Amino acid sequence: MRKLMVLMVLALAGSSCSRPAATQTAASKRRPPVIDMHLHAFRLTDGSPPPENPVTGRPSTARTSAELRDASLAALERYNIVKAVASGPAETVAQWRAAAPDRILVGAFVDEENPLPDLAVLRADIRAGRVHVLGELALQYRGMAPNDPRLEPYYALAEELGIPVGIHTGIGPPGTPYLPCCPHFRVTLGNPILVEEVLVRHPRLRLYLMHGGAPYLQETKAIMSVYPQVYTDLAVINWILPREEFHSYLRELMRAGFGKRLLFGSDQMFWPEAIGMAVEGIESATFLTEEEKRDIFYNNAVRFLGLEGK
Ligand SMILES: [Zn+2]
Repeated sequence: MRKLMVLMVLALAGSSCSRPAATQTAASKRRPPVIDMHLHAFRLTDGSPPPENPVTGRPSTARTSAELRDASLAALERYNIVKAVASGPAETVAQWRAAAPDRILVGAFVDEENPLPDLAVLRADIRAGRVHVLGELALQYRGMAPNDPRLEPYYALAEELGIPVGIHTGIGPPGTPYLPCCPHFRVTLGNPILVEEVLVRHPRLRLYLMHGGAPYLQETKAIMSVYPQVYTDLAVINWILPREEFHSYLRELMRAGFGKRLLFGSDQMFWPEAIGMAVEGIESATFLTEEEKRDIFYNNAVRFLGLEGK
């Protein structure tokens, strides 16, 4: 099954990559706008072999940090992704923003290597327009639950200053707790139901679940039903999961009536080509109408980010 998926993705990737450059430019001009709510500005270890794309098994098309940035920004242009919430090491995100100031929105990143930022610095950065989103909060990789009391002042700050919060939910790669990075990672910490007390304490918080809460479908539905302010992005699951599995999950969320609160995201990490693969994951969903796709790709994010009329 995995092999079948890899072949499928290879075939799709091949067909778009082999287009001549002139056609690609024309195509990107015709493409309607997209917002990527979940991109990463990461570094590669320059000089080391590029990491393998987990779906295609091929080495990343980027070999250095500069190539990763340039190829990712080129992919945003190609798919007419007009805004992208990028998170990663603060210095790297700042470089990406400097290279594409109109396109890159800055996310404050927390994971096993990047601790919670200093609150006063974060407040100043948000006020000065240097940070636009609190996220990705990949708390699970630090062994923290979304309702950990240490996060309370951060949620209060985001609520006070009106910036969105994006929390990693769901799972991680196979064997994550056995890796040296992440001995505290637990599947249970990714359950979207754990945001409930946060939502109760902070009713004005603009929160989005990242990765669609997958595979916690029932819990995601429960949270989104009771808390109509909650959105969810479809990042990574739209290209890394077997396509049938992703589409069945997406279809369930659509059937449950959440079509106006689903957000496109790529979760591009080390593979610029993942941006196109993520777009394809939505475009290939034949059960979605064109209007529903436009909502996921763009309209819902415009509303969530408060970009109407801007
Ligand atoms: Zn994540």
